[in-house]
Amino acid sequence: MIMAYKRILLKLSGEQLAGKFDSGLDPERAAWLANEVKKIVIKGTEVVIMVGGGNYVRGAQIAGHGIKRVTADHMGMLGTMMNALAITDIFEAGGVPTRCLSSIFAEQVAEPFVHRLAEKHLQKGRVVIVAGGIGRPYLTTDTAAVSLALELGCDVVLKSTKVDGVYDKDPTKFADAKKFATLSYQQAVENPAISVMDKAAMGLAMEQHMPLIIFELDKEDILTNVVKGQPLGTTIS
Ligand code: UDP
Repeated sequence: MIMAYKRILLKLSGEQLAGKFDSGLDPERAAWLANEVKKIVIKGTEVVIMVGGGNYVRGAQIAGHGIKRVTADHMGMLGTMMNALAITDIFEAGGVPTRCLSSIFAEQVAEPFVHRLAEKHLQKGRVVIVAGGIGRPYLTTDTAAVSLALELGCDVVLKSTKVDGVYDKDPTKFADAKKFATLSYQQAVENPAISVMDKAAMGLAMEQHMPLIIFELDKEDILTNVVKGQPLGTTIS
């Protein structure tokens, strides 16, 4: 079966990278992810990864007690940088050619995010990992993921979460929770029970018709099968 998507944006939250830990980064989880990404890179898929930083800092949560929101968001962006640097090394150690591009000025530690540079790396078959989200406060890496997917002409945004799709209520609390195979952007934005991506990210995806797939990257070959176009998780379009 051929791949359904030529270029994808994979959003990995801090929670996904923390793996078995409550915070920080789980190198075993990152190495496992590298191997799953390798499988699709070998098949010719171009991969952009937007990393979150919630395993270290979420700006909205730590702002206060004297820490300004802007500063808190800067700290959050630095958290994404720590993840991006670590997983770039782990991906390369796993045999996946990878480059880390930063949306915040950090020349000593990463190449700057420049549109043409990102294009060049992708065309050469390298995975591009973006640090610092979009580089501005009051935003999350979900919004940054959709924006970057649009900028780099990705076919789809794949967001890995801790459940295997979008449900009508929390499946960890309600046994009768039902999974949606597909959802419209409108449904996803309007339903208060659905909080799989922040509204800004969802709004941008809706306005620009960027499809989103919410799935759980917990088993071998799930990523490959999603990229092949198998109906796994929930597609929002
Ligand atoms: N952040 C920001 N601008 C961006 C991306 C991220 O200010 O473009 C900050 C924000 O404080 C956010 C934190 O970085 O809470 C970590 O990102 P996020 O919460 O999206 O991480 P995730 O929940 O995906 O792990």
